[in-house]
Amino acid sequence: MTRKSIFRDSEGCVDCKACIIACKVKHMWPPYNTAEPVPEPRGVNLLRVYHYGPVISADGKVHQPFVSIACMHCEDAPCIRVCPTSAIYKDSETHITLVEEKRCIGCKACLWICPYGAPSFKEDGKMVLCNLCIDRLKEGKKPACEAACQARAIFVGSPEEIAELRARKSVERIARGTME
Ligand code: SF4
Ligand code: SF4
Ligand code: SF4
Repeated sequence: MTRKSIFRDSEGCVDCKACIIACKVKHMWPPYNTAEPVPEPRGVNLLRVYHYGPVISADGKVHQPFVSIACMHCEDAPCIRVCPTSAIYKDSETHITLVEEKRCIGCKACLWICPYGAPSFKEDGKMVLCNLCIDRLKEGKKPACEAACQARAIFVGSPEEIAELRARKSVERIARGTME
């Protein structure tokens, strides 16, 4: 398997939270509900949807962006550098950031350094992180979040595919006058 990168499209995301629920189901981290009286997914969440803006484009149109955020599997991951027990490492084939749970002592240094706030913690204090559904990728499937997103706001692929997608999206945004 080749190296993997991820693209999250803030113009496509509609805050439906299907990605969060699909992730919870895949990793068996209930509760799965998002219905009232608890509108936000509870418990361990490897993915979160953030709101920002509103953004006003050149032609005066108002856009409310959402973006789903999980581990971005950084090239030079600062969480790996700060972990005192070397619990975090890179998969040699895919470059996905992984955690060896039994080495984690729950100090949260990874959470403080992560620019995306990606590390999540179980009740026993152990850190858990999005692993891009590496088992599904090895079977030739999409990660659960990408497969669940009807807005196609999540895309996992090779670094070359992601670079091409980013460039295409930027050109489309400039053409529409919605470059942020
Ligand atoms: S499934 Fe897609 S559209 Fe829905 S919240 Fe997740 S990223 Fe956004
Ligand atoms: S946990 Fe944060 S710092 Fe570490 S690879 Fe993921 S996004 Fe990067
Ligand atoms: S919480 Fe666990 S994974 Fe994170 S820095 Fe501490 S020991 Fe490492």
